[in-house]
Amino acid sequence: MSQIEVFINGHYYPKEDAKISVYDHGLLYGDGVFEGMRAYSGRVFRLQEHLIRLEESAAAILLTIPLSREELAEAVKDTLKRNNLQDAYIRLIVTRGAGSLGLDPARTSNPQVIIITDHIELYPRELYEQGLKIITASTIRNHPAALSPRIKSLNYLNNIMAKLEGRQAGCMEALMLNVRGEVAECTGDNIFIVRRGQLLTPPIDAGILEGITRNAVMELARNAGVTVRETTLTRHDVYVADECFLTGSAAEVIPVVEVDQRTIGTGSVGPVTRRLMQDFHQLVRSSNE
Ligand code: PMP
Repeated sequence: MSQIEVFINGHYYPKEDAKISVYDHGLLYGDGVFEGMRAYSGRVFRLQEHLIRLEESAAAILLTIPLSREELAEAVKDTLKRNNLQDAYIRLIVTRGAGSLGLDPARTSNPQVIIITDHIELYPRELYEQGLKIITASTIRNHPAALSPRIKSLNYLNNIMAKLEGRQAGCMEALMLNVRGEVAECTGDNIFIVRRGQLLTPPIDAGILEGITRNAVMELARNAGVTVRETTLTRHDVYVADECFLTGSAAEVIPVVEVDQRTIGTGSVGPVTRRLMQDFHQLVRSSNE
Protein backbone atom coordinates (compact mmCIF):
# COMPACT_ATOMS: atom_id res chain seq x y z
CA MET A 1 0.00 0.00 0.00
CA SER A 2 1.29 3.45 -0.85
CA GLN A 3 2.47 5.79 1.85
CA ILE A 4 -0.16 8.02 3.50
CA GLU A 5 0.51 11.72 3.02
CA VAL A 6 -0.60 14.26 5.58
CA PHE A 7 -1.64 17.85 4.85
CA ILE A 8 0.03 20.50 7.01
CA ASN A 9 -0.61 24.14 6.09
CA GLY A 10 -0.98 23.52 2.38
CA HIS A 11 1.92 21.07 2.02
CA TYR A 12 1.88 17.29 1.92
CA TYR A 13 4.29 15.17 3.93
CA PRO A 14 4.72 11.40 4.14
CA LYS A 15 3.17 10.16 7.40
CA GLU A 16 6.59 9.70 9.08
CA ASP A 17 7.69 13.24 8.23
CA ALA A 18 4.41 14.96 9.12
CA LYS A 19 5.59 16.94 12.14
CA ILE A 20 4.87 20.15 13.99
CA SER A 21 6.82 22.10 16.58
CA VAL A 22 7.19 20.81 20.13
CA TYR A 23 6.43 24.42 21.13
CA ASP A 24 2.97 24.17 19.56
CA HIS A 25 0.36 24.98 22.18
CA GLY A 26 -1.72 22.14 20.81
CA LEU A 27 0.88 19.81 22.31
CA LEU A 28 1.86 21.91 25.33
CA TYR A 29 -1.69 22.70 26.48
CA GLY A 30 -4.22 20.89 24.28
CA ASP A 31 -4.93 24.34 22.86
CA GLY A 32 -6.66 23.65 19.57
CA VAL A 33 -9.74 22.12 17.99
CA PHE A 34 -10.50 19.19 15.71
CA GLU A 35 -13.04 17.21 13.77
CA GLY A 36 -13.31 13.50 13.04
CA MET A 37 -15.17 12.70 9.81
CA ARG A 38 -15.68 9.82 7.43
CA ALA A 39 -15.68 9.53 3.69
CA TYR A 40 -17.81 6.90 2.00
CA SER A 41 -17.28 6.06 -1.66
CA GLY A 42 -15.10 9.15 -1.98
CA ARG A 43 -17.61 11.60 -0.45
CA VAL A 44 -17.23 13.14 2.98
CA PHE A 45 -20.37 12.63 5.05
CA ARG A 46 -21.83 15.96 6.18
CA LEU A 47 -18.61 17.85 5.52
CA GLN A 48 -20.30 21.26 5.83
CA GLU A 49 -21.71 20.40 9.26
CA HIS A 50 -18.29 19.28 10.46
CA LEU A 51 -16.68 22.48 9.16
CA ILE A 52 -19.32 24.63 10.84
CA ARG A 53 -18.77 22.80 14.14
CA LEU A 54 -15.00 23.26 13.73
CA GLU A 55 -15.52 27.00 13.19
CA GLU A 56 -17.74 27.20 16.25
CA SER A 57 -15.22 25.31 18.39
CA ALA A 58 -12.47 27.66 17.14
CA ALA A 59 -14.61 30.75 17.77
CA ALA A 60 -15.30 29.58 21.32
CA ILE A 61 -11.57 29.49 22.08
CA LEU A 62 -10.82 32.68 20.07
CA LEU A 63 -8.74 30.78 17.55
CA THR A 64 -8.71 32.11 14.01
CA ILE A 65 -8.58 29.34 11.42
CA PRO A 66 -6.23 30.52 8.66
CA LEU A 67 -8.35 28.88 5.91
CA SER A 68 -11.90 29.69 4.85
CA ARG A 69 -14.62 27.04 4.98
CA GLU A 70 -14.32 26.57 1.21
CA GLU A 71 -10.54 26.24 1.40
CA LEU A 72 -10.84 23.68 4.20
CA ALA A 73 -13.39 21.68 2.22
CA GLU A 74 -11.07 21.68 -0.80
CA ALA A 75 -8.09 20.70 1.32
CA VAL A 76 -10.00 17.76 2.84
CA LYS A 77 -11.08 16.54 -0.59
CA ASP A 78 -7.59 17.00 -2.05
CA THR A 79 -6.00 15.06 0.81
CA LEU A 80 -8.39 12.15 0.24
CA LYS A 81 -7.69 12.20 -3.49
CA ARG A 82 -3.97 12.40 -3.04
CA ASN A 83 -4.12 9.32 -0.86
CA ASN A 84 -6.48 7.49 -3.22
CA LEU A 85 -8.96 6.93 -0.43
CA GLN A 86 -12.64 6.19 -1.05
CA ASP A 87 -13.66 4.96 2.38
CA ALA A 88 -11.66 6.67 5.07
CA TYR A 89 -11.55 8.40 8.39
CA ILE A 90 -10.48 12.04 8.32
CA ARG A 91 -8.95 13.96 11.20
CA LEU A 92 -8.90 17.73 10.71
CA ILE A 93 -6.95 19.56 13.39
CA VAL A 94 -6.24 23.23 14.02
CA THR A 95 -3.68 23.96 16.72
CA ARG A 96 -2.93 27.34 18.27
CA GLY A 97 0.57 27.14 16.77
CA ALA A 98 4.06 27.42 18.16
CA GLY A 99 4.59 29.88 20.99
CA SER A 100 6.65 30.41 24.06
CA LEU A 101 6.55 28.27 27.19
CA GLY A 102 3.63 29.78 29.07
CA LEU A 103 -0.10 29.62 28.53
CA ASP A 104 -0.58 32.96 26.82
CA PRO A 105 -2.17 32.35 23.40
CA ALA A 106 -1.18 35.88 22.42
CA ARG A 107 2.42 34.67 22.35
CA THR A 108 1.80 32.08 19.66
CA SER A 109 1.97 32.50 15.93
CA ASN A 110 0.71 30.65 12.88
CA PRO A 111 -2.02 28.16 13.80
CA GLN A 112 -1.35 24.80 12.20
CA VAL A 113 -3.96 23.16 9.99
CA ILE A 114 -3.45 19.42 9.76
CA ILE A 115 -5.48 16.89 7.77
CA ILE A 116 -4.91 13.18 8.28
CA THR A 117 -6.79 10.71 6.10
CA ASP A 118 -6.44 7.07 7.01
CA HIS A 119 -8.37 3.97 7.98
CA ILE A 120 -9.86 3.50 11.43
CA GLU A 121 -11.49 0.57 13.15
CA LEU A 122 -12.70 1.83 16.47
CA TYR A 123 -14.40 -1.39 17.55
CA PRO A 124 -13.95 -4.93 16.24
CA ARG A 125 -16.48 -5.83 13.50
CA GLU A 126 -18.16 -8.55 15.57
CA LEU A 127 -19.22 -6.04 18.22
CA TYR A 128 -21.60 -4.46 15.71
CA GLU A 129 -23.45 -7.81 15.75
CA GLN A 130 -22.99 -8.71 19.41
CA GLY A 131 -23.17 -5.26 21.01
CA LEU A 132 -20.83 -3.47 23.37
CA LYS A 133 -20.54 -3.87 27.12
CA ILE A 134 -19.95 -0.57 28.87
CA ILE A 135 -19.69 0.75 32.41
CA THR A 136 -20.54 4.08 33.98
CA ALA A 137 -17.36 5.99 34.79
CA SER A 138 -17.04 7.85 38.07
CA THR A 139 -15.32 10.65 36.15
CA ILE A 140 -18.09 13.09 35.24
CA ARG A 141 -18.21 14.94 31.92
CA ASN A 142 -16.66 18.41 31.99
CA HIS A 143 -18.81 20.98 33.73
CA PRO A 144 -20.04 23.28 30.93
CA ALA A 145 -18.93 26.29 32.94
CA ALA A 146 -15.39 24.90 33.11
CA LEU A 147 -15.01 23.78 29.50
CA SER A 148 -18.06 23.42 27.32
CA PRO A 149 -18.42 19.86 26.00
CA ARG A 150 -19.74 21.50 22.82
CA ILE A 151 -16.17 22.55 22.00
CA LYS A 152 -14.36 19.73 20.24
CA SER A 153 -11.01 20.72 21.66
CA LEU A 154 -7.66 18.95 21.66
CA ASN A 155 -8.01 18.58 25.40
CA TYR A 156 -9.68 15.19 25.77
CA LEU A 157 -8.26 14.28 29.18
CA ASN A 158 -11.71 14.37 30.76
CA ASN A 159 -12.88 11.66 28.37
CA ILE A 160 -9.60 9.77 28.56
CA MET A 161 -9.96 9.51 32.34
CA ALA A 162 -13.36 7.89 31.82
CA LYS A 163 -12.02 5.70 29.01
CA LEU A 164 -9.31 4.43 31.38
CA GLU A 165 -11.97 3.48 33.90
CA GLY A 166 -13.73 1.56 31.15
CA ARG A 167 -10.52 -0.22 30.21
CA GLN A 168 -9.80 -1.13 33.84
CA ALA A 169 -13.23 -2.74 33.95
CA GLY A 170 -12.58 -4.60 30.68
CA CYS A 171 -14.90 -2.39 28.61
CA MET A 172 -14.16 -0.54 25.39
CA GLU A 173 -16.42 2.43 26.16
CA ALA A 174 -17.64 4.19 29.27
CA LEU A 175 -20.76 6.17 30.00
CA MET A 176 -20.24 9.60 31.49
CA LEU A 177 -22.74 11.43 33.68
CA ASN A 178 -22.91 15.20 34.07
CA VAL A 179 -22.50 17.26 37.23
CA ARG A 180 -26.20 16.70 38.03
CA GLY A 181 -25.78 12.92 37.84
CA GLU A 182 -27.71 12.69 34.56
CA VAL A 183 -26.59 10.65 31.56
CA ALA A 184 -24.44 12.79 29.25
CA GLU A 185 -22.57 10.76 26.64
CA CYS A 186 -19.80 8.22 26.23
CA THR A 187 -16.13 9.15 25.92
CA GLY A 188 -16.24 9.51 22.15
CA ASP A 189 -19.85 8.75 21.23
CA ASN A 190 -23.38 9.98 21.91
CA ILE A 191 -25.87 7.63 23.57
CA PHE A 192 -29.45 6.66 22.69
CA ILE A 193 -31.97 4.38 24.33
CA VAL A 194 -35.21 2.89 23.06
CA ARG A 195 -38.04 2.70 25.56
CA ARG A 196 -41.61 1.69 24.71
CA GLY A 197 -40.97 2.30 21.04
CA GLN A 198 -39.60 5.83 21.51
CA LEU A 199 -36.04 6.89 20.83
CA LEU A 200 -34.56 8.96 23.65
CA THR A 201 -31.27 10.80 23.91
CA PRO A 202 -29.91 13.44 26.31
CA PRO A 203 -30.39 17.08 25.21
CA ILE A 204 -27.42 19.30 24.36
CA ASP A 205 -27.76 21.09 27.70
CA ALA A 206 -26.94 17.81 29.46
CA GLY A 207 -23.39 18.92 28.60
CA ILE A 208 -22.58 16.89 25.50
CA LEU A 209 -21.04 17.29 22.09
CA GLU A 210 -23.74 17.87 19.48
CA GLY A 211 -22.85 14.83 17.44
CA ILE A 212 -23.33 14.93 13.69
CA THR A 213 -24.11 11.21 13.66
CA ARG A 214 -26.57 11.85 16.51
CA ASN A 215 -28.41 14.40 14.38
CA ALA A 216 -28.43 12.09 11.35
CA VAL A 217 -29.79 9.18 13.41
CA MET A 218 -32.56 11.36 14.89
CA GLU A 219 -33.61 12.33 11.34
CA LEU A 220 -33.56 8.68 10.22
CA ALA A 221 -35.67 7.61 13.18
CA ARG A 222 -38.25 10.34 12.48
CA ASN A 223 -38.34 9.31 8.82
CA ALA A 224 -38.97 5.75 9.97
CA GLY A 225 -41.96 6.93 12.03
CA VAL A 226 -40.24 6.56 15.40
CA THR A 227 -40.94 9.25 18.02
CA VAL A 228 -37.67 10.91 19.00
CA ARG A 229 -37.23 12.90 22.20
CA GLU A 230 -34.22 14.77 23.54
CA THR A 231 -34.82 14.39 27.22
CA THR A 232 -32.98 14.11 30.51
CA LEU A 233 -31.96 10.53 31.17
CA THR A 234 -30.73 8.91 34.34
CA ARG A 235 -28.90 5.64 34.78
CA HIS A 236 -32.25 4.15 35.77
CA ASP A 237 -33.60 4.95 32.31
CA VAL A 238 -30.64 3.21 30.71
CA TYR A 239 -30.94 0.14 32.95
CA VAL A 240 -34.63 -0.36 32.12
CA ALA A 241 -34.28 0.49 28.41
CA ASP A 242 -35.38 -1.98 25.76
CA GLU A 243 -32.41 -1.07 23.56
CA CYS A 244 -29.33 1.09 23.73
CA PHE A 245 -26.78 2.21 21.14
CA LEU A 246 -24.01 4.72 20.59
CA THR A 247 -23.31 7.02 17.65
CA GLY A 248 -20.20 8.75 16.35
CA SER A 249 -18.39 9.46 13.10
CA ALA A 250 -15.77 6.82 13.85
CA ALA A 251 -18.09 4.35 15.64
CA GLU A 252 -21.08 4.94 13.30
CA VAL A 253 -24.03 3.21 15.05
CA ILE A 254 -23.03 0.48 17.52
CA PRO A 255 -25.38 -1.45 19.81
CA VAL A 256 -24.89 -1.66 23.58
CA VAL A 257 -26.14 -4.80 25.30
CA GLU A 258 -24.73 -4.43 28.79
CA VAL A 259 -24.27 -1.43 31.10
CA ASP A 260 -22.67 -1.83 34.54
CA GLN A 261 -23.00 -5.61 34.19
CA ARG A 262 -26.76 -5.29 33.71
CA THR A 263 -28.25 -6.73 30.55
CA ILE A 264 -30.12 -4.15 28.49
CA GLY A 265 -33.36 -5.43 26.98
CA THR A 266 -32.96 -8.95 25.65
CA GLY A 267 -29.17 -8.72 25.63
CA SER A 268 -29.05 -8.85 21.85
CA VAL A 269 -29.38 -6.16 19.18
CA GLY A 270 -32.97 -4.86 19.18
CA PRO A 271 -35.15 -4.11 16.14
CA VAL A 272 -35.01 -0.30 16.31
CA THR A 273 -31.22 -0.34 16.61
CA ARG A 274 -30.92 -2.80 13.76
CA ARG A 275 -33.15 -0.70 11.52
CA LEU A 276 -31.24 2.50 12.30
CA MET A 277 -27.90 0.79 11.68
CA GLN A 278 -29.17 -0.28 8.25
CA ASP A 279 -30.69 3.12 7.47
CA PHE A 280 -27.49 4.85 8.52
CA HIS A 281 -25.38 2.69 6.24
CA GLN A 282 -27.75 3.42 3.40
CA LEU A 283 -27.70 7.16 4.11
CA VAL A 284 -23.92 7.47 4.17
CA ARG A 285 -23.60 5.56 0.89
CA SER A 286 -26.32 7.57 -0.86
CA SER A 287 -25.49 10.97 0.59
CA ASN A 288 -24.60 13.63 -1.98
CA GLU A 289 -22.89 15.92 0.47
N1 PMP B 1 -19.22 12.84 21.91
C1 PMP B 1 -17.90 12.98 21.97
C2 PMP B 1 -17.27 13.33 23.26
C3 PMP B 1 -17.12 12.82 20.82
O1 PMP B 1 -15.80 12.96 20.87
C4 PMP B 1 -17.76 12.49 19.60
C5 PMP B 1 -16.96 12.34 18.34
N2 PMP B 1 -16.03 11.32 18.39
C6 PMP B 1 -19.15 12.30 19.60
C7 PMP B 1 -19.85 12.52 20.78
C8 PMP B 1 -19.88 11.96 18.34
O2 PMP B 1 -19.90 13.06 17.46
P1 PMP B 1 -19.98 12.87 15.88
O3 PMP B 1 -21.19 12.05 15.59
O4 PMP B 1 -20.12 14.25 15.35
O5 PMP B 1 -18.74 12.19 15.45
